[in-house]
Amino acid sequence: MLVDTHCHLYLPEFKQDLDDTILRAKNSGISKIILPNIDSKSIDSMFNLYYSDTNLFSIAIGLHPRSVKEDYELELSKIFKHSINIIGIGEIGIDLYWDKTFLKEQQVVFDFQLNYACENNLPVIIHSRNSLKEVLDIVKLYLPKGLKGVFHCFPGNLQEAKQIINYGFYLGIGGILSYKKNNMLEVVENIDLEFILTETDSPYLSPVPYRGKRNEPSYMFEIVKLISSLKKIDYDDVANITKNNAIKLFNF
Ligand SMILES: [Zn+2]
Repeated sequence: MLVDTHCHLYLPEFKQDLDDTILRAKNSGISKIILPNIDSKSIDSMFNLYYSDTNLFSIAIGLHPRSVKEDYELELSKIFKHSINIIGIGEIGIDLYWDKTFLKEQQVVFDFQLNYACENNLPVIIHSRNSLKEVLDIVKLYLPKGLKGVFHCFPGNLQEAKQIINYGFYLGIGGILSYKKNNMLEVVENIDLEFILTETDSPYLSPVPYRGKRNEPSYMFEIVKLISSLKKIDYDDVANITKNNAIKLFNF
């Protein structure tokens, strides 16, 4: 059984064939799909999907750094009133790839959400695109408060991966592992499987041979297959160990 620890299946990209996509996911061995939120516009569709199958889905609430604008306080209040049945806070972090205009606001929002996670003893799902160093410095401040979580779509090198597991965090590994010349090959070869979570980030970042197309949870198979061959560990063992890692972190 596989767990997709990061999937935005509630987005309009899946409106046409949502039921079939879910069926393909189940048929491919997926037993749990974790849905992290984006902003106040996505929260209703995310909760609706969650209530359609509370065994298959689990949810996290949070304000994505790319959605942080001058109205961030209103956004946070709209999102954080939906705190029932959540298993984590996400996705949250800092994004310096798309737009740096609201960097200060991104940091304020990140701090708010990290505090919320610590106070409620919830794991965090962290987005750190082009900002890994900044995010690591901030996360370090919350370790004494018991912060735990995953660096989703881990973007760093082996040294940074070691720092993250020293923090007690997990590395979220997805489609990038299948791309030519990527840091993740070295990371996955050298980091013990007990620190790795599997994810698709659907509808983004499809693994080869689906690269460039819409991603979906059933493609997780390709990622687990790659981890299995890189680490020379049986496919079923990779699936089992990474599933247990996800259960340990998110407590579902
Ligand atoms: Zn995401």
